[in-house]
Amino acid sequence: MASKRDYYEVLGVENSASAEEIKKAYRKLAMNFHPDRNPDDEEAERRFKEAAEAYEVLSHDEKRRAYDQYGHAGLKGQQGGFSSFEDIFSAFGDIFGGDSIFGELFGNRRRRSGGAAKGTSLRCEIELTYQDAANGVDKTIEIGRREPCDTCDGSGAKPGTQPVTCRTCGGRGEVQQTQGFFAIRTTCPHCRGAGKSIESPCVECRGSGRLPRKREITIHVPAGVEDGTQMRISGEGEPGMQGGPPGDLYCLIHLRPHPFFVRRGDDLVCEVPISFGQAALGSELEVPTLDGRGDLKIPHGTQPGDVLRMKGMGFPHLNGYGRGDQLVRIHIEVPKRLSSEQEELLRKFAKTEEKRVSSRRKSLFDKVKEYFE
Ligand SMILES: [Zn+2]
Ligand SMILES: [Zn+2]
Repeated sequence: MASKRDYYEVLGVENSASAEEIKKAYRKLAMNFHPDRNPDDEEAERRFKEAAEAYEVLSHDEKRRAYDQYGHAGLKGQQGGFSSFEDIFSAFGDIFGGDSIFGELFGNRRRRSGGAAKGTSLRCEIELTYQDAANGVDKTIEIGRREPCDTCDGSGAKPGTQPVTCRTCGGRGEVQQTQGFFAIRTTCPHCRGAGKSIESPCVECRGSGRLPRKREITIHVPAGVEDGTQMRISGEGEPGMQGGPPGDLYCLIHLRPHPFFVRRGDDLVCEVPISFGQAALGSELEVPTLDGRGDLKIPHGTQPGDVLRMKGMGFPHLNGYGRGDQLVRIHIEVPKRLSSEQEELLRKFAKTEEKRVSSRRKSLFDKVKEYFE
């Protein structure tokens, strides 16, 4: 495989560019290399896809951080670029919602060549627990989509009749309009791009050829998935028009915050309180992990804020081998109440300690003095 260009270079922005600058740069490139302005231009197509891929990463905080830190390798194959224009429009079409030119071009693409077009892509969201995200899970969700009408087999025409060629567009499915600098072909308003019109519509679907249906879809979520990941379930969107392929289902993954853990990359971070005695003398603790309980060794002399690493107890690396770690930040609790025995012992201890503290202070002072001499 050819080596990949730097995403910032692709979009022509600085590494420090703001989200707004990145969006602007992408929008400009997308307009320049838009397939409708560069028909049959392979280089433009390549640039258009490349820009979309760069934008997908740099517009996503978590992916951008991973990319900044580790480059292309940091993305662990969770985005392999886009295979078709439809994917790009499905993923980013909405950010151009307010942009009439892009909107027009986008709208046009869907009904080219006599109405055969990929079906509309659908979106859904799934909320996962940390455990589900770490182990991978099959989630069944219900989606609503329009499916071909059984009565007319999706034709929209009453059984026994046939759709006829549209008189408005002569069967081409589109009409030409001039808008500013562009001669824009738009979908025929009469047949809505189908190129055919229906004289006796099917009663069941009122001529649309489709009926709303609820469908249960099981989504296989891989172990290690991150918050904000968008999964594409190919072919589970709405059916295509005039023999076009079905759209896709885009599923946005949310991770429900965990009461004890915070995820950082594939590591899990948590805070564990221990006593002064445990910190000073060392100890062995049972701490929660994603798999239940785990043993944590506290070395003697552990300091407040020390981070102890439990190897391999984090999230599995997505599409890779191994797992992240669990990082335990130590919080040392100072007792609020002491028994008289404890107080007596602690006072004795403090007396021995006072010597040490004073001698240490002196040496520190000496060092400062040396610095000024
Ligand atoms: Zn029907
Ligand atoms: Zn027409």
